[in-house]
Amino acid sequence: MTSSYTFHDHFFDCIVAGAGGAGLRATLGLAEKGLHTACISKVFPTRSHTVAAQGGISASLGNMGDDDWRWHMFDTIKGSDWLGDQDAIEYMVKEAVPAVVELEHYGVPFSRTENGHIYQRAFGGMTTEFGKGKPAQRTCAAADRTGHAILHTLYQQAIRHKANFFIEYFIIDLLMEDNECRGVLAWNLDDGSLHRFYAQQTILATGGYGRVYFSATSAHTCTGDGGGMCLRAGLPLQDMEFVQFHPTGVYGAGVLITEGARGEGGYLTNSEGERFMERYAPSAKDLASRDVVSRSMTIEINENRGVGDHKDHIFLHLDHLDPKIIHERLPGIAETAEIFSSVDLTRDPIPVIPTCHYNMGGIPTNYKGQAISASLDIIPGLMAAGEAACVSVHGANRLGSNSLLDLIVFGRAAAEHCGNTLSPGKKPPTTSPHVTEAIIQRLDAIRHANGSVPTASLRDQMQKTMQQHCAVFRTDNLLKEGVEKMNDVFNTFQNHIQTSDRSMIWNSDLMETLELENLILQAKTTIECALKRTESRGAHAREDFPKRDDKKWLFHSLASINKNGKISMKKRPVNLNTLTDEVQSVPLQQRVY
Ligand SMILES: Cc1cc2nc3c(=O)[nH]c(=O)nc-3n(C[C@H](O)[C@H](O)[C@H](O)COP(=O)(O)OP(=O)(O)OC[C@H]3O[C@@H](n4cnc5c(N)ncnc54)[C@H](O)[C@@H]3O)c2cc1C
Repeated sequence: MTSSYTFHDHFFDCIVAGAGGAGLRATLGLAEKGLHTACISKVFPTRSHTVAAQGGISASLGNMGDDDWRWHMFDTIKGSDWLGDQDAIEYMVKEAVPAVVELEHYGVPFSRTENGHIYQRAFGGMTTEFGKGKPAQRTCAAADRTGHAILHTLYQQAIRHKANFFIEYFIIDLLMEDNECRGVLAWNLDDGSLHRFYAQQTILATGGYGRVYFSATSAHTCTGDGGGMCLRAGLPLQDMEFVQFHPTGVYGAGVLITEGARGEGGYLTNSEGERFMERYAPSAKDLASRDVVSRSMTIEINENRGVGDHKDHIFLHLDHLDPKIIHERLPGIAETAEIFSSVDLTRDPIPVIPTCHYNMGGIPTNYKGQAISASLDIIPGLMAAGEAACVSVHGANRLGSNSLLDLIVFGRAAAEHCGNTLSPGKKPPTTSPHVTEAIIQRLDAIRHANGSVPTASLRDQMQKTMQQHCAVFRTDNLLKEGVEKMNDVFNTFQNHIQTSDRSMIWNSDLMETLELENLILQAKTTIECALKRTESRGAHAREDFPKRDDKKWLFHSLASINKNGKISMKKRPVNLNTLTDEVQSVPLQQRVY
């Protein structure tokens, strides 16, 4: 079978799969260390989803008032509903300070205070004095285009350091043999050629899988390809049931209005004009953690206090703010509100609704970025960073502005680890022919699939199933029905998919079908883990099990899937110990805002 294909073989010290914030930060670090590095991306680097990040990146710089990384650590652990690993969280919040200062020195054009320091705004769940003080202004921002600023800076720096970019190459699968990762197989979208990239380390930074939902703030490219590759290779994904719904997606469009809008003083109201968050979170109010705000909004809508003709959304007010603040701090939001909801936000409220925004789950790693197997061993040759990974610093719920931080800190940590452990120029092992053959057989089967269900309609079926059965509130019945429907989706993909319903197959048809397979594997894992976890924690809210159950569920879930779509789940203990003795671990508490 393989004989009909020619492969272009490449040898590198390191491969980075993905050119978003995590991938570019890793690539830059590797290139700076003199490691021969390939960064492979299915889209042009600065089109990665990180470019859309608005609000900012957290770090306890203390430019706008007292701050301490220990307070940031407390907030992150509380935000995670104690499911985050405390060693990794300690590492992230401590390294946040030098990592953000480094970004400044690389040239990120942060907004400034009057005296020239990096401007920092308030964000949900970020407090001082271990939750007892006032809200912290900890989120470093470049107006409301922080991701854009970071991504462009990192790309330019990576080019300056002579990293090798392979742009519009779609990675199909990992090249795994003897339980180690030796590289990836990629397809050049431009001319259809196939490329095997071999390296001492492969770092997956392929982003999240938000597109399993019908309404999502993420880009169409967020199809979780790295997670799909891992599941196909028999590797587990961790904490997949935890999906973040952002409170303020624009109603009907799904496009994001940053939490920074509430950080600058915005607030939510229901049909009675009431600022209802005061009832649900008396002290943090509109700046409670995202899961809390999304649930409160959903309850308001379910209890018939939604706004609009169908009483199915909520209003976000910025009309009381000084237009100067909007112009300076939230210019992109003003544009978004106008384009997607025809609202002039200096006069009228924006219609919003909770929308799928972030995947806490992903490829399990330690704080150095090394990927971990189902038996909790380090997988030689494989690392992960960014939204594709689950370190786990976000646990059951991520705090806003902690993801850009995760990308930068762990992209950097992955590069550090490679710098400390790899020998530049050492030729990596290749794989036996059967490894490539198996991938090509799958590719051929999908390329020629001429069943009765086109890719786009199966994707629609999957997205609607997930939206209806596995969103903000979940119950046993709802999830069970959803699992059945997802089994149908899985089986339809296996037996009846039609890669193109036209006579001519385009590269993009094949790519979308490959992406759909990755999405389906992760949708299935998400909903089945959600059914199994009989408690409410962070973003996972079970109406039939409304309490957190630490005895039974203070565990990460590790889920794998076999060829027939059967999912097996294991529990992995949460690390409640800190990394150093500079700080004490945060004991379990009730989580109120
Ligand atoms: C609208 C929006 C606003 C946000 N705002 C904030 C914010 O203000 N602060 C914050 O902390 N977080 C924010 N987040 C979250 C944060 O931006 C994301 O979690 C983060 O950008 C993910 O970065 P990443 O590097 O992991 O992946 P991405 O930026 O998604 O990049 C993935 C990369 O992988 C490549 N790739 C994927 N699959 C393949 C494949 N098969 N072959 C080759 N290449 C592949 C893509 O081409 C891309 O380069 C926001 C998210 C959204 C959606």
